[in-house]
Amino acid sequence: MVTDYHHRDTERTEDSQRTRLFHYQPEKNFLAYAGAGMICSNCGERAIISQRYSGQHLCQDHFIQDFERRVAETVQRNDMVKDGERIAVAVSGGKDSTALLFCLRRILAKRDVELVAVTVDEGIAGYRDDTVKAARAIAKKLAVEQHIVSFREEYGCDLDEMVQGKKVAPCTYCGVFRKNALNKAAKRLGADKVATGHNLDDEAQTIMMNYLKGDYERLMRFRPWRAQRGLVPRIKPLREMPEKEIALYCMVNEVFSESRECPYANLSLRADVRDMMNCLEREFPGTKQSTVQGFEKIADRAKGSYAQMDLAACRECAEPCVKELCKACELLERLIR
Ligand code: SF4
Repeated sequence: MVTDYHHRDTERTEDSQRTRLFHYQPEKNFLAYAGAGMICSNCGERAIISQRYSGQHLCQDHFIQDFERRVAETVQRNDMVKDGERIAVAVSGGKDSTALLFCLRRILAKRDVELVAVTVDEGIAGYRDDTVKAARAIAKKLAVEQHIVSFREEYGCDLDEMVQGKKVAPCTYCGVFRKNALNKAAKRLGADKVATGHNLDDEAQTIMMNYLKGDYERLMRFRPWRAQRGLVPRIKPLREMPEKEIALYCMVNEVFSESRECPYANLSLRADVRDMMNCLEREFPGTKQSTVQGFEKIADRAKGSYAQMDLAACRECAEPCVKELCKACELLERLIR
């Protein structure tokens, strides 16, 4: 059965048994990305990846070089990091945030930039415990200071308890509270920026989801033009990197810790959009990049006609918000009712 997405933001329309719209099985063996006998476009070594969108085959060393060069270019082109800054890196312990911390540590090694890892423990049984452990391990390995904040400490209960027996979309609650907890933690730690591990796939999915919902306001908020008071600016250094290359980067650097998928992941519209985009990418390489680049052009043109709203302080917690009450306090009130 195909579910109705209209109320997906606030209601769980089906349980985990619902039929997925698209079925895409990503390759299990990441090192088999390049066909047998394929050689690196830059040297004679065996290629470990074939980038269909660029036409390049890369061996391990050239893949790592290419990956770090592209992330460094994204950081530089978008002026994401300035000397003297303290960057709070959101490290969940999954592959994206692990790659983010590892890569930032390398590309910023010679700069006067301080990294501090922030891990948010939402309280998802059978899933988050393992990733928190992995987050601790990578922070320790890289000798990066780490702080762990939990939903239980911040909001009085775990995500599992919040959504138990309720017709709500766990990802909506999780996303709102995680953003809120990260922003508060970054301010407490005196961070100038918050770096998150969002990758090209996440970016393309978010854009597509907002197109599908016709949510122009939210779509434009996705690309803020200026800093807002009370909101620690966010940077996404991996936003141009495909998810599969991030997984491969973790594997070849031996920082990959396989974790199960979040048990709530399949309940969101994002899961179907992810599969749809993966199907399209397989048939038409470069689809994800063109989705993001196309949106960038639209956003640039709309810049003049779209005024970015000034944020106020929430009357309950003083966090920045659009209305009187921030989304986190609004959801907390709804949970108490
Ligand atoms: Fe949170 Fe949803 Fe991600 Fe799970 S899949 S960690 S519930 S946002």
